[in-house]
Amino acid sequence: MTDLATLTLKQTQQLLQSGELSSLELTRFYLQQIERLEPSLHAFLHLAAEAAIAQSVQADQCITAWRRQPQQPLPALTGIPLAVKDVLCVQGMPCTCGSRILENFIPPYHATVVERLLAQGAILLGKTNTDEFAMGSSTENSAYGATRNPWDLSRAPGGSSGGSAAAVAARMAPFALGTDTGGSVRQPASFCGVTGIKPTYGRVSRYGLVAYGSSLDVVGVLARTAADVALVFSLVAGHDRRDATTTRQPVAPVVLQDEPQLRGLRVGVPDEYFITGIQPEVENAVRQAVNVLQQLGAEVQAISLPHTEYALPVYYLIAPAEASANLARYDGVRYGPRLPAEVLWDVFFRTRGAKFGAEVKRRIMLGTYALSAGYYDAYYGKAQKVRTLIKQDFARAFEAVDVIAAPVAPTTAFRLGQHTDDPLAMYLEDVFTLPANLAGVPGLAFPVGFDQHGLPVGMQLMASHYNETTLLRTAHAYQQATSWHTCQPEL
Ligand code: GLN
Repeated sequence: MTDLATLTLKQTQQLLQSGELSSLELTRFYLQQIERLEPSLHAFLHLAAEAAIAQSVQADQCITAWRRQPQQPLPALTGIPLAVKDVLCVQGMPCTCGSRILENFIPPYHATVVERLLAQGAILLGKTNTDEFAMGSSTENSAYGATRNPWDLSRAPGGSSGGSAAAVAARMAPFALGTDTGGSVRQPASFCGVTGIKPTYGRVSRYGLVAYGSSLDVVGVLARTAADVALVFSLVAGHDRRDATTTRQPVAPVVLQDEPQLRGLRVGVPDEYFITGIQPEVENAVRQAVNVLQQLGAEVQAISLPHTEYALPVYYLIAPAEASANLARYDGVRYGPRLPAEVLWDVFFRTRGAKFGAEVKRRIMLGTYALSAGYYDAYYGKAQKVRTLIKQDFARAFEAVDVIAAPVAPTTAFRLGQHTDDPLAMYLEDVFTLPANLAGVPGLAFPVGFDQHGLPVGMQLMASHYNETTLLRTAHAYQQATSWHTCQPEL
């Protein structure tokens, strides 16, 4: 019997096409995993079990028809299920963004990324949990309760795409979509021991993504292997006329070599990413992984990204500033629930006061303050200038190296509740992921070991703009040579 929990997407495609596996069996397997594990993990905010079963039956009919007359290639994801972070619109399915202010919002259209995956025959299992409006690093800011880490139920799965990462790690979905504004794909991927990509800013359409920080937001993919991520990435990436910030740069098909070798690849290791306070096991595992890259033929050198220490304060001015503008639309009039009042102004106050959570309010206050007349130049304007310096650091580094290797986060998964009373400690978890968003460069996280508690450690690779392929090839070579990505939590 095939162990469905270990199949790669490529193997799944082959089994479905040969008729050895049906989409119904596959979809049932994931729905059973969800039914068994959801009470302890709470990775989902909405399930579409019945619709998924119906779609899988249809997919099986398509496959049977195709096998009889295979004139055209079968769409790549025919009959393969996925989960989607609840900040992306799916027509007819609730989209809460983990917030009470959108608790009954049902979008009338699909996000472009969703539309593209459905057009490839994928089957949607449901929407995954997230920190409210993707603001957070643990999913504890979800108004609907935190997700738990499949490796240790007392710990956070990371965030804000913690629901998607936990679902993939626990084999409740073979792959999932997440979003990354400051690390929300990479950090949960790292905490849950899966592979996750944050593409170049503008590489993937944001149409139908509920905006958090518009100059930082990117839709990303979480899966078990770099090869799986590569497949899905190539299907969602590319220009979208409905998102003017998407690039017209063509998306080359990601060709991965079966032979694990990295000859000629120049890898830079930035000193600034190995700071005091980093968990020693994280540093060790990442340095060992760099050694593996070297053994595979890569040339490794130390590099410097001198403005790294400013990424955190810069991000926590720019992201809240953009968020404060983006979230102005939730006023109790246009979307979601409304708290009635005598005058319109009080409708806004009461609805926003009652329905936004504490972290979202904190960010709105920070952001409006940073943007206010008199403070704009000192805070927002200054932050934008330093952002340019951070971007220049990367440009300079990528003259000398093809890939930057670093930790994803300074620690492995922390305990639920550990940072909830200390926002600054929570923000510090993002220290290694924020720079890539500020610079707009792509980043990839994947497992490279475990700490003494059996929690996954992730490594991050970054490349210059539009070089996702380099990241995916490097991680794929690493995964051919090692087996960390095959480890599963016992549940
Ligand atoms: N943790 C960061 C924040 O709270 C990043 C979140 C994200 O990438 N969506 O803003």
